Amino acid sequence: MGKNPRIRVRDNAIQFTNNPVGGVSAITLGNTVIWNGDPYDPKNSKGPLWPDPQNAIEHEKQHTYQGEQLGPFYLPSNVLGGLNSVVRGKGWHGGGATGTRRARCRILHAPGR
Ligand SMILES: [Zn+2]
Repeated sequence: MGKNPRIRVRDNAIQFTNNPVGGVSAITLGNTVIWNGDPYDPKNSKGPLWPDPQNAIEHEKQHTYQGEQLGPFYLPSNVLGGLNSVVRGKGWHGGGATGTRRARCRILHAPGR
C-alpha cells in the first residue's frame, strides 16, 4: 500500500488512480476505470509513465462508451478481440503500446465520439 490511490469522477467514469495492486496499465469496466498510475497527475504517478496521458484518458473514455452501447457484450467482445490480436502477434490493442488507439479499438469505438 502507500501508493497514494485517488478517486475522481470525470471523463464518463469513476477513476481509480494509483491503485495499490498494480497490474495492467488501465482497465475499464462499465463506467469504472482502474489505473496503475495516474495519467491525470503524471508527476505524482506511482505507476507506469504515460507517454501521452491525455490520449490514454481518451482511450479509456471510449471504452466507457463501448460499455454503454454493448452492455453485457462489452467484456466478451473486448476479451475475444484482444485474444485474437495477441494470437496474431499484434498485442492486446492490435498494434503495440497501450494508451493509444489501435485498430481493434477503433472498430469498437463509437463513431463520432
Ligand atoms: Zn483499449
